[in-house]
Amino acid sequence: MSRTGLWDSHAHLDSDYFTDDREELIAKLQEDLDGIVNPGCDGPTSAFAVELAEKYDFIYAAVGWHPEELKGIPADYLEQLAAWAVHPKVVAIGEIGLDYYWKENEPKEVQQRIFLEQIDLAKQFDLPIIIHDRDAHGDMLELFQKEVKGVQAVFHCFSGSLEMAKELAKRGYYFGFGGTSTYKNNQKTREVMQYVPKELLLFETDSPYLSPVPFRGKRNNPGYVEYTARHAAELLGMDFAELAALTAANTKRLFKKIK
Ligand SMILES: [Zn+2]
Repeated sequence: MSRTGLWDSHAHLDSDYFTDDREELIAKLQEDLDGIVNPGCDGPTSAFAVELAEKYDFIYAAVGWHPEELKGIPADYLEQLAAWAVHPKVVAIGEIGLDYYWKENEPKEVQQRIFLEQIDLAKQFDLPIIIHDRDAHGDMLELFQKEVKGVQAVFHCFSGSLEMAKELAKRGYYFGFGGTSTYKNNQKTREVMQYVPKELLLFETDSPYLSPVPFRGKRNNPGYVEYTARHAAELLGMDFAELAALTAANTKRLFKKIK
């Protein structure tokens, strides 16, 4: 086991922010964390995620097209995903979802179509999905209440309401919590974390973004998942090691190809 026993269930180590020190950072992370799941956001980043997973035992990949990356999506993108999906270290399809925040993103209908196509592919390969949901909570919840069935999912960096969390937890979906849960003005997310059944709780960083306190505004890295987890242990009144073990088990249950 690593020093903390924690998993970072969502980190973008493929990001340019890590170009200068990726190898030395990963060497250090290997001592501190049990594992990392690195989702892709398009073709090149998915390919990079798979490369990292091939190079390092404790890193696993997910592959997918993020809702901010749909302009010019290749016509054969589903074939590309299918080729990666059978790789032993590709443990999920993601990150995929809906993003209504950025005006330059593709229209809602296009985002929803590509999201649903990727979910179908995940089902075909019996893989879970990693969901990005920004300012699209209403449509997202409706999709999961009406259309999406038979796939396991984590709502990464969950930012929905307590009511939405209740609906999703009822259906057994997982919740990823990262640095934003430590922000002073984010009582809403802490309330959700306290509500979510413990067996559906995952920790993540979304590195290089969304650093936890006391690193807010600086580059995030998977090692900082420890700050989020220690903050959560205090909030939930749990022993840190116990919470680390529990969330590690949850991560491996969701991403069941993890060995
Ligand atoms: Zn992400």
